[in-house]
Amino acid sequence: MKNKEHNFSHSISVMERSYRVFPGGVNSPVRSFRSVGGTPIVFSSGKGKYLYDVDGNEFIDFCSSWGPLIVGYSNPAIIGAMQEQLYKAITFGAPSDLEVKLAEKIMDWVPGLEMLRFVSSGTEATMSAVRAARAATKKNKFIKFEGCYHGHADQFLVKAGSGLATLGNPSSAGVPVGTTSDTLTAIYNSEESVLELFEKYGDDIAAVIIEPVAANMGLVLPKSGFLQFLRNVTEKFGAVLIFDEVMTGFRLARGGCAEIFSVEPDMWTFGKIIGGGVPAAAYGGKKQIMQQVAPLGAAYQAGTLSGNPLAMVAGYATLCEIEQQNAFIKLENLGQKLDSLVDAELKSFIEKSKVCYVRIGSFFCFFFGTNKLPTHFSEVASTDMKLFNKVYHAWIEQGIYLGPSGYEVGFLSTCIEEIDLKKLVEVVKNVLITEE
Ligand code: PMP
Repeated sequence: MKNKEHNFSHSISVMERSYRVFPGGVNSPVRSFRSVGGTPIVFSSGKGKYLYDVDGNEFIDFCSSWGPLIVGYSNPAIIGAMQEQLYKAITFGAPSDLEVKLAEKIMDWVPGLEMLRFVSSGTEATMSAVRAARAATKKNKFIKFEGCYHGHADQFLVKAGSGLATLGNPSSAGVPVGTTSDTLTAIYNSEESVLELFEKYGDDIAAVIIEPVAANMGLVLPKSGFLQFLRNVTEKFGAVLIFDEVMTGFRLARGGCAEIFSVEPDMWTFGKIIGGGVPAAAYGGKKQIMQQVAPLGAAYQAGTLSGNPLAMVAGYATLCEIEQQNAFIKLENLGQKLDSLVDAELKSFIEKSKVCYVRIGSFFCFFFGTNKLPTHFSEVASTDMKLFNKVYHAWIEQGIYLGPSGYEVGFLSTCIEEIDLKKLVEVVKNVLITEE
């Protein structure tokens, strides 16, 4: 089924150097091809929907640098804003009007977000949000859900408990048990698992943090009423509800998941799109909680490059582009085209339980070896990842790039066209035919 032979010799030789200087040859493990096999592709540029590697191969990009590039690569308005800023200042380490401008826009888009703080990564945002929640409630524990990713701060790197209602054990070497002992793990979409934890530890639970649409275990949607249940139970026990919208924020709707599911959290974390591809993230929420943060309050949190001018203008320009391009409608239309193509081309394989597919807005995901959409992590883990890996390499052969793991989602940008979606689905179909 190859229609084009790629030569990856330059990628391979850069990676050989990379293996000598970086652990595993990469600066973030998700970039390694450990899970799908093979050597990572080394990129040199991107334009619109296209990515180009160091060998000159062209790929249609469904990775979006893991989310930020919702309007594609090299958007002229974003480049223009950054170019202008480059000559003014790259960093001040002091207040600038650029950060106020972006914050005001974000607050205008997200009702209920009363105050925020910019940081430089999603990891910092979630870590700091939990700290503020603990400071506001004067409680220690928090609940996270198995399969949700909230960055790599020690307290989030926990294994799911062996049974329900168990305290967290570290899932990473180098994390002392002490730092995860206040992390409680529940099962996504299981009210029962959350209730058990609240019954046992309710007096000391500061927060519940969740990806309101889980996009780090493939794509798992919240069951109807699940987020409202979390709203009710956190209110009842005086815990802070945190929506980690680092993935979903400004990608699914103006007001994020609160708007889509009509459930307003107390706090949010954002990242990716708000920096337009330059490192920026934020945490925020109710004034009463955010006033706990230094210098107003006693919860310390700081950052040399926080509110970085280049990131602020790139983020602002990205949000303006989203508005100008009517991106959410455009992406939903594209998504519906993808739904129809999947329905038309993969129906017989779906009926034979070879594959299933889920989409919300500009996130999509194929699960293999099942026709039942996973509702929580262990169901995702029992899908056929070997078959995903075959499909993955077929996508690469056909010039389509996605994040290299079956636990990742596909991203649509506003540059994607129907012809690209056809190609994406056709590859899946062809692999499934050869598997029969
Ligand atoms: N939260 C979520 C939901 C994420 O998807 C990620 C990263 N993919 C993070 C937090 C961490 O963000 P960063 O990689 O910028 O630290």
